[in-house]
Amino acid sequence: MSIEVPFLNLQAINAQYQVELEEAAQRVIQSGWYLCGRELESFEHNFAKYCQTKHCIGVANGLDALTLTLQAWLEMGKLNAGDEVLVPANTYIASILAISKNGLVPVLVEPNPNTFNIDVQKMQAHLTDKTKAIMAVHLYGQLSEMEAICAFANSHQLLVIEDAAQSHGATINGKKAGSFGDASGFSFYPGKNLGALGDAGAITTDDDELASTLVALRNYGSHKKYENVYQGVNSRLDEIQAAFLNVKLTHLEQEIAKRREIAQRYLEMIDNAHVELPKVEMAEAHVWHLFVVKSNNRDALQTHLMEQGVQCLIHYPIPPHKQQAYPELSELSLPISEQLHETVLSLPIDPTMTDEQVKHVVKAVNSFSG
Ligand SMILES: *Cc1c(COP(=O)(O)O)cnc(C)c1O
Repeated sequence: MSIEVPFLNLQAINAQYQVELEEAAQRVIQSGWYLCGRELESFEHNFAKYCQTKHCIGVANGLDALTLTLQAWLEMGKLNAGDEVLVPANTYIASILAISKNGLVPVLVEPNPNTFNIDVQKMQAHLTDKTKAIMAVHLYGQLSEMEAICAFANSHQLLVIEDAAQSHGATINGKKAGSFGDASGFSFYPGKNLGALGDAGAITTDDDELASTLVALRNYGSHKKYENVYQGVNSRLDEIQAAFLNVKLTHLEQEIAKRREIAQRYLEMIDNAHVELPKVEMAEAHVWHLFVVKSNNRDALQTHLMEQGVQCLIHYPIPPHKQQAYPELSELSLPISEQLHETVLSLPIDPTMTDEQVKHVVKAVNSFSG
């Protein structure tokens, strides 16, 4: 009998909560109130509490969470057009888009190839008079070195924004992702560790003025109906998605625990000289949004796994500076990022995976002959 292992089984994940999700949907449908109501208010309260921050502001998606935060800082006079933002070179394109869309300049910093996160040692060399912020991306679910990043930011008067789209619930000494920086952007895209059943996102922050500016920006730049203070956007988190997220937030810790269990088994049981396992320094700092291995023969490994029924994906195949959308970045020399993009492969990791499926992935990886 052949075993199939899908990369991520969203149907199975959400089926666990079918009854609660249906109740939530019914509540919203019957309420007659579909935007900026009680469900959003309750989710914002619950998620701020979960992230240990004073505020949570729901928006339409993770990209908007990052874009609107930077716009808010421009409106507040904390940033100016042309300012530079340090950002890891191997991040997902959304981090870069949020910066460039605001007329700010992304300055790509090489990652540490062991953690995949921004290499703190390399930030100093990129500092100029124009450097005004750092965007720390907690890639694949592992927190960046936030203590060092915040210390560096403090000594150079830089703002810190966390791109926490992949790291809901990760902690360092009990402190949660989304509570380290001046602000943090989250995505609740269906495939994220905390996923809606559609698009959604949020910003967490302790800053009252930023929170209030964001509440206006997401709603046409208006605090009061028909009075527009800023050139805002329509980026609201729907009541129905907020209701689903309220359900799923209550199960997040348990899902993270399952992801950690699977990751632990992979780390203990995968043994192949052609496959390099991810390194973890602190177990609680990683929530395993993705389980990313490296191989010098990555494409052959992917083909081999696919032949064994194991679906695996590449995060990400093309680095931002090599994207057609950014010709101005194409001449940069970023050998570490470029090499990572050629060697990384994400194995299935999903809280609904069975024992048998986990064993099958291990067996398939171990039987790769290079
Ligand atoms: C998913 C993701 C985003 C964007 O989130 P959307 O909800 O898809 O807009 C931003 N940054 C990172 C690192 C992501 O993984």
